[in-house]
Amino acid sequence: MPKNQFVDFKAVKAAVHIEQVLQHYGLLDRFKRSGDSLSGPCPIHKGTNPTQFRVSISKNVWNCFSECKNGGNVLDFIARMENISIHAAALKAIEWFQLDPAEMAAASEAEPNQADDAPRNRSESRPKPDSKPATPEITKPNPPLKFRLDKLDRNHAYLTERGLTPETIQDFEVGFCSKGMMAERIAIPIRDPDGNVVAYAGRWPGEPPEDTPKYKLPQGFRKSLELFNIDRAIKEPADKPLVIVEGFFDAMKLHQHGCRKVVALMGSTMSAAQEELIRKHTDRNSHVIVMLDEDEAGRFGREDIAVHLSRFAFVRVHVFGEKDTQPDQLTAEEVAAVFA
Ligand SMILES: [Zn+2]
Repeated sequence: MPKNQFVDFKAVKAAVHIEQVLQHYGLLDRFKRSGDSLSGPCPIHKGTNPTQFRVSISKNVWNCFSECKNGGNVLDFIARMENISIHAAALKAIEWFQLDPAEMAAASEAEPNQADDAPRNRSESRPKPDSKPATPEITKPNPPLKFRLDKLDRNHAYLTERGLTPETIQDFEVGFCSKGMMAERIAIPIRDPDGNVVAYAGRWPGEPPEDTPKYKLPQGFRKSLELFNIDRAIKEPADKPLVIVEGFFDAMKLHQHGCRKVVALMGSTMSAAQEELIRKHTDRNSHVIVMLDEDEAGRFGREDIAVHLSRFAFVRVHVFGEKDTQPDQLTAEEVAAVFA
């Protein structure tokens, strides 16, 4: 087809799967599959680290956490591999995968919930930029970040004060950030179930000054859609109970003490989206332990959470003997006793 022909990028993106593209380049064998994700060395900057490049199969997107510090959809990938424009990449994809542009256009038109606000008129079709929805949809997930905070100070005193070992600090990739949006804070990466970093939370190291919040989250990020540590908790054996805590440090400490199937709500309430996430990764035989802080908010939250979760799993509410106890204060022995 001629170079200047109208290409419906959205339709091409929907029709081409990233696995096909990797296969086309003979790369698929070099990638390791884990659940919904593929990981391997980055073919764009020709890296060697086997975890630097990740693909979410269901979202049909990729991310290089190393040199490229970039990611995108299938067309972005082809464009980077071939060093060509998105338009040219779409034409390549049509050619390689023998897509029928007319058929794709029809399928795209038939699709309900089109993000375009104006009715489509094919007779006016002309090349247009990659069409992104004009307004963010309410149900849209937090997109994976296209960058990673590096040079975080993993030896910061606050991390040791909170009782984290160097292994845990390394494992969760937390550290003190000296510049940028999370400057002067401990940056904590939050991942989606596929392991993509969707945000960094910034914890003030210690008691914050007046009018300074303890935690800072990026603008536009919706924490109610995520569960901290879900990406790793779901890899734990199904017969282990899932522990639900409030905070990042609760989760990291329990993890450190061997309770690896733990997620944090990042608050003392559970959103509908969080409930759905838990439901998706449990079944009728699953056990869930709700271990919120032993304070007013925690006591209130845990009752409500238990009611919701008991509709689809066995739920146990953990009650601390002492007021104001938090899960991150438990010793390894006390954690072990909870599961005994
Ligand atoms: Zn790369």
